[in-house]
Amino acid sequence: MPTASPQASPGPPAFESSPPGQAGPQPSDFLLPVIDDETRPFWEGTLAGELLVQACATCGRLRFPPRPMCPSCHSNKRLWKAMSGRGSIWSFAVPHPPLLAAYESLAPYNVVVVSLAEDQAIRLVGNLVSGSPRQRATVDASRHGEAGTEAAGDRLAGSPGEILRRANPGPIEIGEAVSVVFTLVTAPDGTLTSLPSWIRAEGQAPATL
Ligand SMILES: [Zn+2]
Repeated sequence: MPTASPQASPGPPAFESSPPGQAGPQPSDFLLPVIDDETRPFWEGTLAGELLVQACATCGRLRFPPRPMCPSCHSNKRLWKAMSGRGSIWSFAVPHPPLLAAYESLAPYNVVVVSLAEDQAIRLVGNLVSGSPRQRATVDASRHGEAGTEAAGDRLAGSPGEILRRANPGPIEIGEAVSVVFTLVTAPDGTLTSLPSWIRAEGQAPATL
C-alpha cells in the first residue's frame, strides 16, 4: 500500500501552480451553495460527515430540496433524518464547453444525479469521483495542502478543480450503486462547505446492461 501523504500523491497540478500571468481557475470562480436558514441543517450535516434529508414530522415523507411545507400532507412540521449514504445513479451528463470559465478548462467531467436508497424520489446532483468507500476527499480552495478539519477524516488535498479532475472513474451506467463521500471546500472568505460527492459502492464493478 502506498504510504505517501496526500500532498505527495501524483496527480495533475493544482491551479495554484499555474505560471504567473497564466492563472487558471481561481477559488472565487467556482460556484458554492448559498446557505440559508432552511438549508443550513443539510450543510451542517455534510460538515459533520452526515447526509441529512428533511422529513415531514407529521406523515414522515422525505423531501429534497428542503422547504417549509410537506408536498404530501401540507404540514409545516419538519425534522431531519440521517441517510445511509447509499444510492444509485439515476442520470448523468458530461458537460463540454461552452461552460463557465472555471469549469471549461476542466471539461469534460461528469455530473451525476443520484437516487437515495431510502427513497428513490430523493435525488441529489453531484460528481462521481474516484475513491474508495470510507475515504473522504477534502478539497481546500484557498490553502492547498493544508486542508481539513477533525470532521474531515481521511482527506486528499486539492483545489476546487481537483474534484472534477478526479471525476474520471470510467464509464458510468444508469443504476449502478454508489455511496457518498464529502469534499471539504474552503471559500475565499474562509467559509467551510462540505459537498456530497459519490464513489462506486464497494465491490461494485461498472454495471453492464
Ligand atoms: Zn407530510
